[in-house]
Amino acid sequence: MATDTSAGGKKKAGKKAKTGEGEKALRRVDESFVEYRYEPAAGGGAYAGAVVMSLGGIALGMGAYAMIALQGRPLYEWGRWLLALGAGLVVVYLLIGGKKVGALRVGYLGVGFEEDGKTARTPWYEITRVKLGDRALRLETGKRTVVVPLDAHGNGAARIVSEAQSRIPKRVALEDDDIAGLGSSAGGARVPAEPPQVTQAHCRATDEPLTFEKDVRMCGRCGALYHRSGVPRRCLECSRKLKSAAA
Ligand SMILES: [Zn+2]
Repeated sequence: MATDTSAGGKKKAGKKAKTGEGEKALRRVDESFVEYRYEPAAGGGAYAGAVVMSLGGIALGMGAYAMIALQGRPLYEWGRWLLALGAGLVVVYLLIGGKKVGALRVGYLGVGFEEDGKTARTPWYEITRVKLGDRALRLETGKRTVVVPLDAHGNGAARIVSEAQSRIPKRVALEDDDIAGLGSSAGGARVPAEPPQVTQAHCRATDEPLTFEKDVRMCGRCGALYHRSGVPRRCLECSRKLKSAAA
C-alpha cells in the first residue's frame, strides 16, 4: 500500500484562509494601519460661538464698569442686569459654542477624535448602534455615546456610515434617505494610524487576558480582539468567518 502523502493535510497552517470578504480575516496588532483624517469644517457653530462669547464679554465688561463707576446713580441697576446677561452668555458659549471639535479619524481601528495630539478611538465592535439625532451622527456603545456633529464633520460622518455598513451592518439604524442625506465622504486624508493598545483587553471568546501583543488577533472586519489560541470560527461580534472549516 502506498503511503498517503497527503497525511497531515488537515493542518493548513501555512495556507491562506479563503475569505472572499475583502479584508483579511484576522489581523495582528503590529501591522501598519491607515485611516482617514478629517479636519473640522470651520462652519456656523464655531462662528456663532465666537459671537456669543464676544457679546458675553462686552456685557460683562459694561456691567462691571457700571457697578463701579455708577454707584449710587439710577443706571446702577443696569450694571447688575448686564453682569447677569454677560455671565449667562458666557455660560451658553461654554456649553454649546465653545466645545471645540477636533479632527476626526475613521478607519479599521474605529472612530476617534484628536484631542491634545492624541486620538481616543472607539473600535467598531464596541459600537452597538449607529443613528442620527440633533444634527449629529450618534455612535452608541454600552457605556457612552460618541457624537459626531454634522456641521463640523459631514464628510467624516458619511465615511463612518459607509464603513459601519460594511463592518457592523446590523447595528446601523439609519434609513436609506438618511444615508443619502449625509452626502459624500470625500475630503479625508489617508494617514497612518498608531497601533492600538491592547494590553488592558481580554479575549472576546475566552476572556483570557491579552498580555502579549504577539498573541493578539483582531477580527479583520470589526476589530474584535482574540487570543490566538481562542479565535472562534466566526467573529462573536460581527459574524465574520475567521477560520476556514478545515482549519
Ligand atoms: Zn468581527
